[in-house]
Amino acid sequence: MNRTALIADRCYLDHFGGRLHPERPERVAAMIAMAAGLKRAGLATLAPREATTAELELCHGAEYVATVARTAGLAHTSFDPDTHTSPATFATARLAAGGVLTAVEAVLGGAAHNGFAIVRPPGHHARPDHAMGFCFFNNVAIAARYLIERHGLTRVLILDWDVHHGNGTQEIFYPSPQVLYISTHQSPFYPGSGMFDEIGAGAGAGFTVDVPLPAGFGDAEYLRIFDHLLMPIARQFKPEFVLISAGFDCHYRDPLGGMRVTAEGFAAMTRRMKRLAAESCGGRMVAALEGGYDLQALEEAGRAVIDELGRDDAEPIVPVAGGERAIPVVQRGKYFHQPFWKLD
Ligand SMILES: [Zn+2]
Repeated sequence: MNRTALIADRCYLDHFGGRLHPERPERVAAMIAMAAGLKRAGLATLAPREATTAELELCHGAEYVATVARTAGLAHTSFDPDTHTSPATFATARLAAGGVLTAVEAVLGGAAHNGFAIVRPPGHHARPDHAMGFCFFNNVAIAARYLIERHGLTRVLILDWDVHHGNGTQEIFYPSPQVLYISTHQSPFYPGSGMFDEIGAGAGAGFTVDVPLPAGFGDAEYLRIFDHLLMPIARQFKPEFVLISAGFDCHYRDPLGGMRVTAEGFAAMTRRMKRLAAESCGGRMVAALEGGYDLQALEEAGRAVIDELGRDDAEPIVPVAGGERAIPVVQRGKYFHQPFWKLD
């Protein structure tokens, strides 16, 4: 059984994005309650630390970080039509980035085999100098750059299965061959980016893998794309650490997304990433919450992922049956990435 570091702290309830806002404190409250009910051995709940200003600036401009910091204590500030602050937003966002770092440090230090960080506000839309799409600081991108800059890693994989394209993460690493950014997302959909031909730039060409999906794809389609396109690329990359932007808004119950992934599908995607991490970096892997707006879906899918993280890495992977609707997506992805990766 694997030892899993869990970040599940009520400090993440303190950010309030507005009345009737879908990214609400209850999301994390539901997941904390779920996690408290998990009985398995090897689950260690850690108190999150704050990210330092220097750590926030690994991915964001100093002026932008200072702008968000100035909202501390203010009743309300709007960064875009979807992205608003409350008095505790800056502190909470800093703890969200720091919570992912806490999990990463537990794995690096050997206290845990892998980790799961239940944090909010989410991060993957946050751009270097702009908050957007409910996100202020790019939690997962900061963790990736922290691994590279502070721990000397040269290859970090970010897998982003949130139903939305992680435009902020992509932008931050677009010219970099040190971070392989893989995103599956509904398209056309918010934020509008993430087309097949966005493959990275310069030395980073081939290190951004965008897989836009029509609405309605479920477990079989996702797993076919994993097995025939994403896993072959990820294996060749040989990551030294695996990060997952774990949004649960591609769950079939989600009110914003139009996908049909079930808890079993999230577990199966996690199992594939776990196997990859076991093969290439001793199992070092941390998943962090991004979106997901149905409370029952968050509980079910979150439980499935945390349970899967605890299972032995050598458990068999059952090849997917069906999912034929994904074949054209796989072919299109291969067309754009064949110049960079060996894909048959
Ligand atoms: Zn999302």
